[in-house]
Amino acid sequence: MIIFKKIDDIRSYLSAEGSKGRTVGFVPTMGALHKGHVSLLEKARTNGDLTVVSIFVNPTQFNDKKDFEAYPISISEDIEMLDKAGCDVIFIPHVDEIYPPGSPQPPVYELGYIDTILEGARRPGHFKGVAQVVARLLEIVMPNRLYLGQKDFQQCMVIKQLVGLVPSLNNIQVEICPTVREDDGLAMSSRNRRLTDPQRALSTLLYQCLVSIQAKAGIDTFAKVQKECMDILVEKGLEPEYVALADANTLELMDDYDSNRQQVALVAAWIGSVRLIDNMLINSMA
Ligand code: AMP
Repeated sequence: MIIFKKIDDIRSYLSAEGSKGRTVGFVPTMGALHKGHVSLLEKARTNGDLTVVSIFVNPTQFNDKKDFEAYPISISEDIEMLDKAGCDVIFIPHVDEIYPPGSPQPPVYELGYIDTILEGARRPGHFKGVAQVVARLLEIVMPNRLYLGQKDFQQCMVIKQLVGLVPSLNNIQVEICPTVREDDGLAMSSRNRRLTDPQRALSTLLYQCLVSIQAKAGIDTFAKVQKECMDILVEKGLEPEYVALADANTLELMDDYDSNRQQVALVAAWIGSVRLIDNMLINSMA
């Protein structure tokens, strides 16, 4: 496994490997790695790609300064985990490498509707920051395949849109990998390590809400199930931001179940100072 910190170094290494005919699979992360991240790397390995994982906590995607400051960092454990998992290349750039001081501002990508709802509405500027850093990283690594987790459903849609929007990125194939969960259903997330034990015990409620939304498709109205979910979250001391149902292809918000469309249920809630999100496809297709 090779670790690069400088753009010029990783570029020349990857272009040499590319000229030998190796496909490159890229997994961008913000570190504090867990089995969810590793599952993306494993998928890239099964596709036979030369695997590149980046670790970069991107300041421009944090609309909340406190969240940025509290974001967990565990570089040496991350490196060890990636080494054990068979990663080929790690890219750990300094912030000045990604956003060189004095250079022109990186482009702002207009994301339209997707940036106005759910996470976009709740975290203004977040997806613009995500698009900015992912475009920058993709232009550096220029992978054949990009591996993303369904855990961040809306982010996957933003990045797919970005890849379509920027001509130099059009040929990158985007692979969405399933959400990896703890035994009790909690979606793995770097932020989970900030939960206290009692908060950790409650955090499975997000998953349970999604399961009940899925189970009640075609039985109850979504409005009824949504209210039940909001009520239980509030009753247990969480602060839900949304419990929503959307078309899984467009993320158009929907008032009710529709067996003719692939739908996705999405939830966001605070547990103390930790904000968690999760989602689940609703298999209501006829
Ligand atoms: P992050 O480090 O949180 O920016 O995540 C890096 C990548 O890992 C993103 O594509 C995430 O969607 C993905 N990811 C995070 N958590 C999980 C999970 N529990 N299962 C699968 N993928 C995940």
